[in-house]
Amino acid sequence: MRSFFTAFSLPSPPAKFKLTFMRGRVIVSLLLSLYLIQSSAPTQAQRAPTQAQPATKSSPQTSSATLPRPKLVIGIVVDQMRWDFLYRYSDCYGTGGFRRLLNEGFTCEDTYISHLPSYTAVGHTTIFSGSVPSIDGIAGNDWIDQATGKNIYCVSDDDVQPVGGTSPPIYMSPKNLLSSTITDELMLATNFRSRVVGVSLKDRASILPAGHTPTGAFWFDDVKGVFSTSTWYMKELPAWVTRFNDRNEPEKLVAGGWNTMYPIGTYHQSTADSTPWEGAFKGESAPVFPHDIAKYYKEDHDNIRSSPFGNTLTLDFAKAAVEGYSLGQRDVTDFLTINCASTDYVGHRFGPNSIEVEDVYLRLDKDLADFFSYLDGKVGKGNYTVFLTADHGASHAVNFLKAHQIPAGISGIRNIIKGLNDTLSSIYKINDLVLSGTNYYINFNLAKIRQTGLSLDSLKGVSLTYLQRQTGLQYVIDMANPDAALLPRPIREMVINGFNRKRSGQILLLPEPGWFDGFDKGTTHGTWNPQDTHIPLVFMGWGIKHGQSYRTVHMTDIAPTVSALLHIQAPNGNIGEVIQEVLK
Ligand SMILES: [Zn+2]
Repeated sequence: MRSFFTAFSLPSPPAKFKLTFMRGRVIVSLLLSLYLIQSSAPTQAQRAPTQAQPATKSSPQTSSATLPRPKLVIGIVVDQMRWDFLYRYSDCYGTGGFRRLLNEGFTCEDTYISHLPSYTAVGHTTIFSGSVPSIDGIAGNDWIDQATGKNIYCVSDDDVQPVGGTSPPIYMSPKNLLSSTITDELMLATNFRSRVVGVSLKDRASILPAGHTPTGAFWFDDVKGVFSTSTWYMKELPAWVTRFNDRNEPEKLVAGGWNTMYPIGTYHQSTADSTPWEGAFKGESAPVFPHDIAKYYKEDHDNIRSSPFGNTLTLDFAKAAVEGYSLGQRDVTDFLTINCASTDYVGHRFGPNSIEVEDVYLRLDKDLADFFSYLDGKVGKGNYTVFLTADHGASHAVNFLKAHQIPAGISGIRNIIKGLNDTLSSIYKINDLVLSGTNYYINFNLAKIRQTGLSLDSLKGVSLTYLQRQTGLQYVIDMANPDAALLPRPIREMVINGFNRKRSGQILLLPEPGWFDGFDKGTTHGTWNPQDTHIPLVFMGWGIKHGQSYRTVHMTDIAPTVSALLHIQAPNGNIGEVIQEVLK
């Protein structure tokens, strides 16, 4: 990458350049021919990795006169995929999915999230913005607007209307995202000739990656069981989306119920099918196979999310988007963002050591293999670049860890807030001085504090003392003075990166390792710890080397790396760096 750019900068002449006209002319022409050789050779030799690949009918070769770029970039975010899941089930993965990524692509083995909290909206935003909540404003899936005390959903927007779906009372757009994304920057770089599409079951995981100005962003509407969008993007669904919805694929996918893909006795990487720390579907007597997902889907369409068929549906819709918008078929680069969300829903319900999670990854591996081979045929192998990563990981179920004598526990923030409010009200004789514990932040009721003339500093002092005594809390951080918490360096950086003055609270709570705010059934994520923040990052295809690196990189480095690959400006809130070893 570097040589491509440096080839264009002429060496500057020495300060005192006293030569005769003739000698000067010889030197200048020598320098000029050197420059021409440098600037043309790498362009053709290093920047045209598709030349070894056969051209397909649908994908004519990039001519040497045009800026070399892939035909299509596909960013796949596997929701809640811990880094170790690349390897945990690899004995049972086929050759065309995760193993193809590793065998053909470049894997950054030590990729970490560098912000808090490690939640879906925040992760998706950082992947595509190269930025952090402090700057891009996506401070959680929800947050408390500090000016009004109102709870805000990350992609809520009262000024838009749903299109194709229902989803009241919240209407969706990227309005709350303050910075640009690589998808926005691609649109700007090509004067909006590119086509950018976001696809996910989750509204936030479709909207935030696709940026502010995509061709479309689509998500699953649980009421109607169809893919929908909002008036931010378009007035009515494109014909191809309506055709897809009319096929009623969700019902077909769940029709056979959910049993394990292979004989259940071969699932050696998981605990027994029924454990006390697994959740179950509503109405299910025990969390065991086969799950009657056809029945649960009929009762509530939301249930397809918590089955492997949600991922199949998502990737089938992604293929329909490639067809519908002719992605990767023109002389300009397109960008498709895909979130496979079912890994997250299944993980939350059953926990990472369940057969359900193992099965959802084995099935996703097959679905990915099918998707890549579809892209090979449609866009042409070597003509597209794919990267696969995760928005966050997940902890093991608390009682699973405890059963194996590993320290763990639930930091019930709701109970902590109740206790704190009781303590404050006994001292100040005013109730509900704390609003919420959103995103591990204590949000004081700032309006009430102003009205009553109480001192926020005095309230914080009492609260810090109370919170520091709570079991399972390791750090209690006054965000007006975070250094007083004596945080180890990487955690301090995550705290600062994650803190948005207008959208985060006044005191941040960090639990001990193995502890989290959640339930004793299934699991969750959100902490700084490696199980939540060590994520897979694999690139494959056009412009990508084969190999691996153990150098520590961060989620913020993904966007600038893709920007460098495409020769486009990095997003305007980017703080990451190019992962140079990935690029040819
Ligand atoms: Zn989640």
